[in-house]
Amino acid sequence: GDFPIETDTIVIGAGPGGYVAAIRAAQLGQKVTIVEKGNLGGVCLNVGCIPSKALINAGHRYEEAKSSEHMGIKAENVTVDFTKVQEWKESIVKKLTSGVEGLLKGNKVEIVKGEAYFVDANTIRVMDENSAQTYKFKNAIIATGSRPIELPTFKFSDRVIDSTGALNLKEVPKKMVIIGGGVIGVELGTAYANFGTKVVIVEGADEIIPGFEKQMSALVKRNLKKKGVEVHTKAMAKGVEETKDGVKVTFEVKGEEQVVEADYVLVTVGRRPNTDELGLEQVGIEMTERGLIKIDKQCRTSVPNIYAIGDIVEGPALAHKASYEGKIAAEAISGHPSEIDYTAIPAVVFSEPELASVGYTEKQAKDDGIEVIAAKFPFAANGRALSLNATDGFMKLVTRKEDGLVIGAQIAGPNASDMIAELGLAIEAGMTAEDIALTIHAHPTLGEITMEAAEVAIGTPVHII
Ligand code: FAD
Repeated sequence: GDFPIETDTIVIGAGPGGYVAAIRAAQLGQKVTIVEKGNLGGVCLNVGCIPSKALINAGHRYEEAKSSEHMGIKAENVTVDFTKVQEWKESIVKKLTSGVEGLLKGNKVEIVKGEAYFVDANTIRVMDENSAQTYKFKNAIIATGSRPIELPTFKFSDRVIDSTGALNLKEVPKKMVIIGGGVIGVELGTAYANFGTKVVIVEGADEIIPGFEKQMSALVKRNLKKKGVEVHTKAMAKGVEETKDGVKVTFEVKGEEQVVEADYVLVTVGRRPNTDELGLEQVGIEMTERGLIKIDKQCRTSVPNIYAIGDIVEGPALAHKASYEGKIAAEAISGHPSEIDYTAIPAVVFSEPELASVGYTEKQAKDDGIEVIAAKFPFAANGRALSLNATDGFMKLVTRKEDGLVIGAQIAGPNASDMIAELGLAIEAGMTAEDIALTIHAHPTLGEITMEAAEVAIGTPVHII
């Protein structure tokens, strides 16, 4: 019997879903408590988006320093102090996570450390090492995120690692096998390949980065191979044997068994939602077949005062999707008519070249019976791309044939991750290709590629025939 603490809205999990939901709820006048069992910022800030991008950028710089001789830059004895790389990466994580703490406090959100467990639809218990506290709430937002899937044939250990293990290695491995050539596997593989690791990717599907158009993933694959990465597609990972200071990984390609020795095997075959240890059964929250929490357009679960957002609900497991849903849930609790609309959610891969997509692909549009114009423009025809020494790639703008409405875009190329924002805005604002073509883009910039792709769509391209 402890005395329950009362609050309006309790948020469980302080990742990009939960902390954003908490801030928005507080801005709207709710008394908010956020419970986090680990670190503020969740997977994204601590062991996901941010540290991975830091490692990718560091690896890229090292690689560029060594390969700019054709530009007249000759660097000798370029070396990597990986301890320092890791310290730099950690310093970024610290800055951002303490930033989140400051934002929560600044918005008067109460931060509680511990693990939350539902007692009933208005009560949770929070356990922290040796204390427990009960909280009573009017509304709850569950934002507990996800964790790496462990394969029964690849039990995690010091040498069989997940993405968190790969982000925190103390040295650059000589050799690493990566099981799963999805976004996370390819991003981490690229980072380590740039640092000098011999990387072997084993992917079950026909192509790496399934979900992106083949034309795009093919560019990434070609680039990985150029870096000396071995890429096996349609390959089945069989098992692993740990040796004295490494692993022996067995996989099957084209009916043939291969055994590769390496320092580590990184398993990135997907993530599973953290929904199993929350006591959801105590409240009777409905789940989907895949173990995700079922929600309506306002992120409300089958229990009307409990909401769910982020990796634990359907849709792409992306940080910006979690944050977006967080705002919707907080607004819904305050009685606003906000609803989720996934039309313009971008997806980005920080590979080389970067890949980005928003809205429809040409194929998806055709499958939905929409007649489209798919207008392509190559980075190689852009002055800025040439001066950046990064001409590999293209933009594809997907517009509706009848009226030129922008309904999608795919980009493979340098800074695709930033360029996709303009296309998201175009879709969100209901713009046509003509609107983009009429917008003056500064020269020389990669943004001109967007303008030129729009010109291709309306039949008046200046810089390609
Ligand atoms: P999470 O970030 O997983 O946060 C959930 C939080 O809840 C955690 O802090 C956890 O400790 C806490 N929690 C769980 N259970 C409880 C409980 N019972 N009580 C209290 N607290 C609890 N996405 C992108 O958009 N861009 C990227 O570049 C990108 N890169 C990635 C790279 C890697 C290596 C990984 C692993 C992921 C990456 N992602 C990226 C995905 C992104 O990290 C997730 O989609 C995002 O973090 C999901 O946010 P969330 O708020 O749903 O959950």
